[in-house]
Amino acid sequence: MAPPLKPLLDTLSARIVAAAEELTELDSAIGDADHGLNMKRGFEAVQAEKANILAKPMGEALKGVGMTLVMKVGGASGPLYGTLFMTLGKDLPENPTPADLGRALSAAVVALKARGKAEVGNKTMLDVLAPVAAHLESGSATFDSVRALAAESAQATIPMKAIRGRASFLGERSIGHMDPGARSSQIMITAVCDVLEGKS
Ligand code: ADP
Ligand code: MG
Repeated sequence: MAPPLKPLLDTLSARIVAAAEELTELDSAIGDADHGLNMKRGFEAVQAEKANILAKPMGEALKGVGMTLVMKVGGASGPLYGTLFMTLGKDLPENPTPADLGRALSAAVVALKARGKAEVGNKTMLDVLAPVAAHLESGSATFDSVRALAAESAQATIPMKAIRGRASFLGERSIGHMDPGARSSQIMITAVCDVLEGKS
């Protein structure tokens, strides 16, 4: 079954907008207090562009989401989330299985790593996206296991020292705070699970 793109975009946007303050608060601890605002601006633009985006086949639609995010989110996260959606659009078949989703997300993780010159363990969004991609690819994922892994992985960024992004300027002082991009990735993954499971 083709993924329900409209509810996916609506729920993603609503969850990000609802979390804007929390994300900005996380970014105020180890960054420049704009991650929530950046993401909110990006997903409001996705909503504004929705009619155009949804008129396209899924691959092109995801590319459209990515391009909108690149243009509107700004900061470090805009090009990175833009790359994520654009790469997902390239690799996802029209009727994806969970393993197809995992493969597409893994390809997006490879593209993200190259774009941000970052690795897993650097205290970034990759610390949520990479383990979730691998788990989906393993073929044993359930909605609950994916949500739980995304939550655990975001929590696991708290004791990490930032090696990439603005938080890395703080060195040791970045320890003890959740990475804002890890949290926004968790929120998006949870939103996708909720929609696909019919909970949202
Ligand atoms: P900025 O840091 O430019 O203010 P945002 O606040 O919107 O941009 O986004 C910050 C988030 O971007 C971080 O929490 C981190 O997850 C992610 N990030 C920053 N740099 C990188 C990178 N090089 N690779 C992967 N993710 C990164
Ligand atoms: Mg910031």
